[in-house]
Amino acid sequence: MIEASPNPPLALQGLLPDELAATCSIELADARRIVSLAHRRGELPTRAPATIRRAALDAARARCHVPTLEVVERRPSAVDPFVKYAFRLHDGAIIESVRIPLEKAGRYAVCVSSQAGCALACAFCATGRMGLTRNLEAWEIVEQVRLVRRDLEAEHPGARVHGIVFQGMGEPLANADRVLRAIRVLSEPSAQAIDRRNITVCTAGLPTGIRRLAEEAPGVRLGVSLGSVRPGARRALMPIDSAHPLAEVLAAAGEHARTTGYAPMWAYTLLLGQNDTDEDAGHLATLARDFARTHGVPPRISLIPFNSIGDDALQRSDRMEAFRNVLFAAGVGSIVRYSGGGDVGAACGQLARTDLPRRGAASPRGARVTVDPGISPR
Ligand code: SF4
Repeated sequence: MIEASPNPPLALQGLLPDELAATCSIELADARRIVSLAHRRGELPTRAPATIRRAALDAARARCHVPTLEVVERRPSAVDPFVKYAFRLHDGAIIESVRIPLEKAGRYAVCVSSQAGCALACAFCATGRMGLTRNLEAWEIVEQVRLVRRDLEAEHPGARVHGIVFQGMGEPLANADRVLRAIRVLSEPSAQAIDRRNITVCTAGLPTGIRRLAEEAPGVRLGVSLGSVRPGARRALMPIDSAHPLAEVLAAAGEHARTTGYAPMWAYTLLLGQNDTDEDAGHLATLARDFARTHGVPPRISLIPFNSIGDDALQRSDRMEAFRNVLFAAGVGSIVRYSGGGDVGAACGQLARTDLPRRGAASPRGARVTVDPGISPR
């Protein structure tokens, strides 16, 4: 049960119907309809509709509110059907989300942020250069989806949000409590009703969080960012490797695969001279085969072309096909991830936000946003 507090009020987008019912001492059926109203309308009416008891609505209005995020920018791509959004939080921090078209017409995914900034400092990610401002609340994660969905339904009646990828700003498993709560709300039928099989959480590699994800949200898919499979090279690209070496991360990913039955996605950003040699590809192929043999499912390898993040420290590799050929020759399949919205800065690693004025904290500078291989762009 969520502890009721008149100050501050509880955000309805962060609550499940049974929690609302317990908190406000109302019937579960009324709580479901109130949650549904909040998600569909973005507000609660002052007069109870015929389907909701007046006392129940009054109790919910007394304890809860329906806060929102300020839409400070909406940038549709001119070259593909991606749309990038920038939202200002109540404390001035700016986060970003991306609307991603899927293969099947009328279906979209939303790439959401889970933190304002990020503490993990991956070298190939602009968000990693800004440091962590704060974790997002569960309702702030859910509200990104609600606002993108509202915009989508106004622009394309009949279109729907089919999936969610936790691949925007932040390391989602460093904010696991709120991310798991957001997943419960996003998949709740009276809230956003997203099928959990269409939700992917992508991590730089936090083993405890991976295990929690398997235990508490077994219907959700996992993505792991590899960086490099050579320990020294990985540590240089992803400092988190010092605390959690790749072997430890992949052991947790293996437990996730055995618990859920889902193959993990392995994301690998190909960087010139850093991780793109035939030898690197050979190591990756060996690791993938070992993983499949040990855990019973082959990982889905997603190769990502690097997009510049404002300096020349890292560069896009021109060895993508050669790298894939080595994997293929070793019997390991891969895809090259399409990362759309490049013209509006929505492509992988490009979400620099230095141009937006903020209130309060320093401006976030970017995020890694791409399409999960389980959710293909058209
Ligand atoms: S890739 Fe993810 S975990 Fe790494 S710095 Fe960027 S947002 Fe953080």
